[in-house]
Amino acid sequence: MPELPEVETVRASLARDLVGKKVKSAAVTNGRVVRRHKSAKEFRAALEGHTIKSVERLGKNLVVGLDNASHLVIHLGMSGQLLRAKGPKDPKPKHTHVVFTFTPAGELRYVDPRTFGELYVSTPPSEGEPVEISKFARLSIGGEGLALRKVVPELAHLGLDPLEDQIGWDRLAAVLRSRTTPLKTVLTDQDIIAGIGNIYADEILFASGLRFDRPSDSLSTIEIRRLHRSTIEILNEAIKHGGSTLDDEQFVDPDGKPGGYQAFHQVYNREGLPCFECRTPIERVVFRQRSTFFCPKCQS
Ligand SMILES: [Zn+2]
Repeated sequence: MPELPEVETVRASLARDLVGKKVKSAAVTNGRVVRRHKSAKEFRAALEGHTIKSVERLGKNLVVGLDNASHLVIHLGMSGQLLRAKGPKDPKPKHTHVVFTFTPAGELRYVDPRTFGELYVSTPPSEGEPVEISKFARLSIGGEGLALRKVVPELAHLGLDPLEDQIGWDRLAAVLRSRTTPLKTVLTDQDIIAGIGNIYADEILFASGLRFDRPSDSLSTIEIRRLHRSTIEILNEAIKHGGSTLDDEQFVDPDGKPGGYQAFHQVYNREGLPCFECRTPIERVVFRQRSTFFCPKCQS
């Protein structure tokens, strides 16, 4: 599943060529991906004729700002891809569910074999209408995240985005100490911390020297500072390499290019292979129905 670095890779690529373009058409061939709307027609009408002002991200959501103050929100789910057409004759890939065309030029396809992803147009709340921002997001001390939640109420429940919301280690400490659940659960719960999934949680925890099942309120100040630093560093490093593309998954950027960060994974998908730090074989356990990889010696 695309996580923060993969979604950010897509965002940066789209921002380079979509801003300033007008949506000419938004043709839906599988209504399931626009399921929040009454009909595909409604989704289409909310987009056509509008100019794109911005392409932002919050957690695992892409947020495309339009000239009428509404936003197109795209969540790639398990297997969603946004792919540019290479030319007018470029055949549509299998599982293409939405095709956007733009004025003056350009075509973008939403492709999703498993159809867990979704797209919807969000209208800003009317003046005076309260938006319930999550208590974790309210800990943010800056960044663009809070402003975005106020205009896209569907995203107000999201927890702290480690890159879009500015959080110092002390704010992270407040989050961790409010829970007794295992560390990995806190890191991957989108309503607490938004953007991290199975891969990056394992990599961040390895870099921090922390086990996935440590109760989150059991960390010392030094451990929290280490976790905070590793979170920012790993996510930024993964973005630099265009995200991770695994053998069994299909992540590619809008030009069809896979990510390169999988070559830097320290524990994810490395069961039985020697730890790069201490040579102890990496272990895999099933934790909350998902694989968790860790070094039994380096992480405590
Ligand atoms: Zn080790």
